[in-house]
Amino acid sequence: MEFITTKMKVQKHIALVAHDNMKKELIEWVDRNKDILKKHFLCGTGTTARLIAETVELPVRAFKSGPLGGDQQIGSRIAEGDIDLLIFFWDPLEAQPHDPDVKALLRIAVLYDVPVATNRATADFILSSPLMNSEYNRNIIDFNKLMSKRTKEKLLKD
Ligand code: PGA
Repeated sequence: MEFITTKMKVQKHIALVAHDNMKKELIEWVDRNKDILKKHFLCGTGTTARLIAETVELPVRAFKSGPLGGDQQIGSRIAEGDIDLLIFFWDPLEAQPHDPDVKALLRIAVLYDVPVATNRATADFILSSPLMNSEYNRNIIDFNKLMSKRTKEKLLKD
């Protein structure tokens, strides 16, 4: 597999998502880290974003609510290269109606080499990383090369 790199700037685009039972924990985490987070661009699924904007008073761009397609919108932004970090407090104790979307979001984040925190401790480690204050090159599969290889293989098969 061949890779290309994409540069994450110092000011990061951070997506915030929390399932209902985890919202309180995420809001507390955002509040505790407000001084760091205010230096970056925040976005999130509808309810999570609104709750953060109202309680912590940070600007957060709101996508649709998760069960209504918000996770997929964030996944598409990752594919477009518009999101650098994903903080996703998903609920390990309760099934969600949009579990397939949750899985898809986590998959696309791994594919695009996006750092993902799925609990408070990981989120703390990410936020305290020196890389938060520097540029960083993410490794992304070279899809153009991969596609031409796959197209050739397909043409040869048929
Ligand atoms: P919400 O979505 O922020 O709109 O509640 C989160 C989710 O369940 O994915």
